[in-house]
Amino acid sequence: GASIRLDNLTKRYPDSQAPAVEDVTLDVAAGETVILVGPSGCGKSTTLKMINRLIEPTSGRITIGGEDVTGINPVALRRTIGYAIQATGLFPHMTVAENIALVPKMAGWPRAKVRDRVEEMLELVGLDPGEFRGRYPRRLSGGQQQRVGVARALAADPPVLLMDEPFGAVDPITRERLQDQLIRLQRELRKTIVFVTHDFDEAIKVGDRIAVLRDRSQIAQFDTPEAILAS
Ligand code: ADP
Ligand code: ADP
Repeated sequence: GASIRLDNLTKRYPDSQAPAVEDVTLDVAAGETVILVGPSGCGKSTTLKMINRLIEPTSGRITIGGEDVTGINPVALRRTIGYAIQATGLFPHMTVAENIALVPKMAGWPRAKVRDRVEEMLELVGLDPGEFRGRYPRRLSGGQQQRVGVARALAADPPVLLMDEPFGAVDPITRERLQDQLIRLQRELRKTIVFVTHDFDEAIKVGDRIAVLRDRSQIAQFDTPEAILAS
């Protein structure tokens, strides 16, 4: 993983009175899973999207792996950062394998290496490659689609993973299974993960540290699950 640092990050959307995110400063250590938890509308997604520069900050600084990335071309971040979201964003006209292969291909990986990587990623998220590589997204359950979304985010082996309610669209049992799987994966991969959820139980379960956010992403608490439960 690579460390992430946010310094005084602020986002003011055009035509809105209050900033969506105001003066947020946050440190994520390399290999750590940090959860941003808070009510709907408190600015979690906006904060996350500023890290991969899907949204441009109004002010402040983003540092990844010690490098100031606030002003660089966001395209250069695609290999550093994997992004998994609730609406998985899988391309419906592409098979599971083609979806997973997308970023490695864009990164110029040789064909054989991409093919091996797709198989490896499917195994990693617990989907049998023989059964799933050729399927189209609409032929998958919600949980399977979310697993493919995670596989795709990991495919180019980025040191950083941003996850926005990645298990939001599935039933509670599948959700628990996906959470367990992420915890197991993370033991092996040690990616630097920033994970957004409004579900406090999920935060406690998967986080190394948890940032409890209020309005405008103001950090009310930033601590380990144990310390937060004890407070
Ligand atoms: P969360 O992820 O915690 O639900 P968001 O980051 O999506 O919160 O939104 C934070 C605030 O910014 C909300 O008040 C929301 O209405 C506002 N907001 C989000 N996206 C936009 C946008 N594109 N334009 C204007 N306001 C927005
Ligand atoms: P998971 O918990 O892994 O998301 P589900 O319990 O939702 O899986 O689905 C169980 C089985 O049903 C899976 O093996 C999957 O292949 C199959 N299945 C679910 N939805 C569909 C679908 N829309 N098309 C084809 N097979 C499906």
